[in-house]
Amino acid sequence: MAAPQQPEHLWRTPEPKRAYDVVIVGGGGHGLATAYYLAKNHGITDVAVLERGWLAGGNMARNTTIIRSNYLWDESAGIYEHALKLWEGLEDDLGYPIQFSQRGVLNLAHSLQDVRDSVRRVNANLLNGIDAEWLEPEQVKEICPILDISPDVRYPVLGATFQSRAGIAKHDYVAWGFARAADALGVDLIQDCEVTGIDVHDGRVTGVQTSRGPIAANRVGLSAAGHSSVLAAMVGLDLPIQSHPLQALVSELLEPVHPTVVMSAAVHVYISQAHKGELVMGAGIDSYNGYGQRGAFHIIERQMAAALELFPVFARAHVLRTWGGIVDVSPDASPIVGLTPIEGLYLNCGWGTGGFKATPGVGWCFAQTVAYGAPHPLNAPFTLERFTTGALVDEHGAAAVAH
Ligand SMILES: Cc1cc2nc3c(=O)[nH]c(=O)nc-3n(C[C@H](O)[C@H](O)[C@H](O)COP(=O)(O)OP(=O)(O)OC[C@H]3O[C@@H](n4cnc5c(N)ncnc54)[C@H](O)[C@@H]3O)c2cc1C
Repeated sequence: MAAPQQPEHLWRTPEPKRAYDVVIVGGGGHGLATAYYLAKNHGITDVAVLERGWLAGGNMARNTTIIRSNYLWDESAGIYEHALKLWEGLEDDLGYPIQFSQRGVLNLAHSLQDVRDSVRRVNANLLNGIDAEWLEPEQVKEICPILDISPDVRYPVLGATFQSRAGIAKHDYVAWGFARAADALGVDLIQDCEVTGIDVHDGRVTGVQTSRGPIAANRVGLSAAGHSSVLAAMVGLDLPIQSHPLQALVSELLEPVHPTVVMSAAVHVYISQAHKGELVMGAGIDSYNGYGQRGAFHIIERQMAAALELFPVFARAHVLRTWGGIVDVSPDASPIVGLTPIEGLYLNCGWGTGGFKATPGVGWCFAQTVAYGAPHPLNAPFTLERFTTGALVDEHGAAAVAH
């Protein structure tokens, strides 16, 4: 899509009102998408998104933008595939260029067990109507010619799953697109406004305390990613969430060399090439808990070693930039989206290392959950209670290098 005529400002900078029907805490992708769909799908426009920093200053503009829906279980397939279908029409819906590029994702298999798990996942995906193929090493090489598939490396490539509708998008544009569209529908986007307390009377939420004064609200939705446990603790809710640093890096700009997305759980790296030309590389989480948006050097070193094993051609590329975000990891590698024991307080968290791809899907479902006070069918399995009932949605296998 051609770049649209930009107004002077993409969104207003309003002073917070003293009361709203709905307050969404967190101006990342999920909070912005939720506000947009509250207004667009449900006509609920008396909404404020409260962001303690700047819009998309958290994980939203720090992630590596991989979008796919090839998860194992039906519950995950439902919500991630809903998101992928929304991605496919999002640029037109928002009227804003988001540079969604469906270049496919290869998930490499390096051991016999990897192969079995991958083939099982392809079959599960097909049963759920999600595009998926199993590829032999030579077919993998056809899709990504610079990948080393020789048998004499430490972890030879024995094949890969391929989802051709997967891809990448430009994360900051996605945030701006949602912000602009939500603002146009009347949502107030309030930056530099930290929520410091949540008011509850007789088991019902009545508003929030913020660094810019108290704000009353009939309903409050939490979409604070890495800070979800901190917010939930304000009302005495102890979430089964661990906050960890997650890092990524980019190389200098290169000519187009890497046509798809490649992920390897075994060597623990994933790589794509951004629209501008940087190689974008990510790894697993730093293993300690923390709220600093940075990570340890040895993780990057290992990630580079893993990348070179798969792509020796990158040996002379330079690292341009590294950074980190704070991800909210749940015990079963699946999100928590739904109701809380407090009436009118709703929770969206636990997306860990893989929530960017869900942005439109979770915004859509969480908006309906907040609008009706009951879970959307696609987020109904992702309750907080599942960690006591045992109805887990274990995506550790399909999440792996979880992006
Ligand atoms: C390095 C890295 C790579 C990743 N790669 C991928 C990937 O390739 N694909 C993928 O699908 N996912 C990926 N992710 C995960 C993805 O970024 C997150 O799951 C997703 O962005 C979380 O939703 P969000 O965008 O709303 O979070 P955020 O953008 O983090 O939004 C939460 C917001 O809440 C705000 N906040 C917190 N506390 C308060 C408070 N008290 N008051 C007001 N505001 C508050 C924060 O400032 C923040 O802006 C990656 C993450 C990282 C860090």
